Amino acid sequence: MRRNFTLKTFNTFGLDVMAAYVVTVNDLSDIERLRKSGYWQLDKKMILGGGSNCLFLDDYYEGIVLLMNNKGVSIQDYDADFVKVSVAAGEDWTPFVQRMVAAGYGGIENLTLIPGKVGASPMQNIGAYGVEIKDVFLRLQAFDLENGKLVDFEAADCEFGYRSSVFKTTLKGKFVILSVDFLLHKHPQANFQYGSIREELSRLGVSQPEIVDVSVAITNIRRSKLPDPLQLGNAGSFFKNPVVHRLVFDDLKREFPDIVGYPEKTNTVKLAAAWLIEKAGWKGRRVGDVGVHKNQALVIVNYGGATGRDIFSFAMEIQQSVRETFGIHLEPEVNII
Ligand SMILES: Cc1cc2nc3c(=O)[nH]c(=O)nc-3n(C[C@H](O)[C@H](O)[C@H](O)COP(=O)(O)OP(=O)(O)OC[C@H]3O[C@@H](n4cnc5c(N)ncnc54)[C@H](O)[C@@H]3O)c2cc1C
Repeated sequence: MRRNFTLKTFNTFGLDVMAAYVVTVNDLSDIERLRKSGYWQLDKKMILGGGSNCLFLDDYYEGIVLLMNNKGVSIQDYDADFVKVSVAAGEDWTPFVQRMVAAGYGGIENLTLIPGKVGASPMQNIGAYGVEIKDVFLRLQAFDLENGKLVDFEAADCEFGYRSSVFKTTLKGKFVILSVDFLLHKHPQANFQYGSIREELSRLGVSQPEIVDVSVAITNIRRSKLPDPLQLGNAGSFFKNPVVHRLVFDDLKREFPDIVGYPEKTNTVKLAAAWLIEKAGWKGRRVGDVGVHKNQALVIVNYGGATGRDIFSFAMEIQQSVRETFGIHLEPEVNII
């Protein structure tokens, strides 16, 4: 247990937040020991993976931070087509993806270069380039913070949705995800339906892509498009893409003919939040040490000296401006702590 420990290198906004207590979780016994100690009575507890989807509002967290660092990847034959891969929550996501791609196991290559740890991947059902974690998810094991029991969650229990799961909604803060099991394909077909992947593959001279080629293409695209949190603090997309009824979209389309929206299965359309933010005049705008990234309007960046509250106020101004311009509510994707 460390006291008054700075989380500056444990959140990708680079905020110099001090935590009253920090416990590194190398295995379950670390949580069980903590549970038996007096510190457990402290009201505030939070679980931190790579801190790439968190915005700390205050510069002091008056509670215990559980820093996930348990390690281990085990691969088992599942059936003729799949392997079951069990991964400890503290494993870093991208090295795990790269290891699976190198071994020829497919299904998560489109999620290459998403920052963070494996344990957080089900939290918001991480997704990119047409793939979400729910597509390869088998089950996870979690520790119930209330009664200290271990619980298995199958896919249906997790209520996965767009950038959402039960762990981000009704069970928020109630469980520590300890490990996740994935089913990965032994004979994968590369998924390169997105135009930008095709363009990058063609630039690389690849005509019959395998999963490793898709992973490399996505790495290149993401490096060229998104700011590296080590250079410029950010937490990726700050807001979710709003989903509206088709009638609302049709109305908006009459007023804004170039609005970007993707029809969904039901009578809904997913709007591109980046388009809304850019059209409302925010792309590249900077106020003090906070700004909207010049290439990607969904990404709010910390130029160095911003506080959590500066970032939050800035985000709320964007939210209000988009509401006033389009009548659309932008919901933060980032977890506000
Ligand atoms: C540059 C950049 C690009 C990104 N691109 C994408 C993208 O393409 N798609 C996407 O979906 N996301 C993206 N993200 C967001 C982020 O990387 C993911 O949400 C990631 O899964 C967060 O992992 P983490 O370990 O950093 O989580 P943290 O930020 O540490 O935690 C996120 C939330 O999960 C909780 N949590 C973390 N670990 C556990 C656990 N073991 N048990 C219970 N709760 C836990 C935390 O309490 C917090 O509420 C991006 C972020 C950045 C900075």
